[in-house]
Amino acid sequence: MPDPVDSKLQEKLSRRLRFYEDLGLSPFYRNRHTAGMQDSSATLASPSESIEESPLPKSSAKSPSAPNAYVSQSAVLPAAAGPSLFEATNKMPGDTLPIVRADLGECTRCKLHKTRNKIVFGDGSSRADLIFVGEGPGADEDAQGLPFVGRAGRLLTQMIEAMGLQRPDVYICNVVKCRPPSNRQPEKDEVEACSPFLFRQLDVLQPKVIVCLGATAAQTLLQTNRGISHFRGEWLDYRGYKMMATYHPAYLLRNPAAKSEVWKDLQKVMAELGLQVKKNKAK
Ligand code: SF4
Repeated sequence: MPDPVDSKLQEKLSRRLRFYEDLGLSPFYRNRHTAGMQDSSATLASPSESIEESPLPKSSAKSPSAPNAYVSQSAVLPAAAGPSLFEATNKMPGDTLPIVRADLGECTRCKLHKTRNKIVFGDGSSRADLIFVGEGPGADEDAQGLPFVGRAGRLLTQMIEAMGLQRPDVYICNVVKCRPPSNRQPEKDEVEACSPFLFRQLDVLQPKVIVCLGATAAQTLLQTNRGISHFRGEWLDYRGYKMMATYHPAYLLRNPAAKSEVWKDLQKVMAELGLQVKKNKAK
């Protein structure tokens, strides 16, 4: 007679393996006892699958306008200083934001830890229907340990309020949790090391809508290297969550004319969430 506990564990493991398949992690390999050691054999997928250098395989690179257009194929073990990707993306029943944050710890999984002041994990309601995902912290965020608190953050706050919400009603986070030097774009190894924690945040929050602010966030979740202009303003699917990509507030500070495009995107989000469209939009 099989032990009933074993069958439950088997079912959990099956669900977990399906989750990894969604992430493109195949074949699957792990040795818990060597997870903390430098071991290139533990790589779960080739770094050549990175979002910046390689488009999706043709078989999975569907039209971005189609439902379930993309699935995440993110895919290498984080650096040896922290838990493996198995642990990093291991959304356990009962996973919570504090647990994800605790697993992140005083992270040294990528080189961004060398220049950061504070890890910027995320901020907002753990029951939010709406999540904004940006690229990475800037100088103000790095100093305060909070996302979107500089000039771009103030614009994002205006946008949120124009939607009839307040910042505490939503959740805000970034692809990478440490500031890239001189606000450069995060590099592929940095995204690969940090994004599993974003994936876990999203799974814990289970939002109705994810709004990606800028190309890096959208490309990370969609696992594409296509420019944001190809799919901005369209409804997309990230592992069953409705997702909209729009321009980053920092881009709007440089290109104010694009605000009207962003406002159109946010109006679609508002309609999806059943929010009233207000006459006065973000200026
Ligand atoms: S960016 Fe992410 S992976 Fe890199 S050190 Fe910071 S928390 Fe760790």
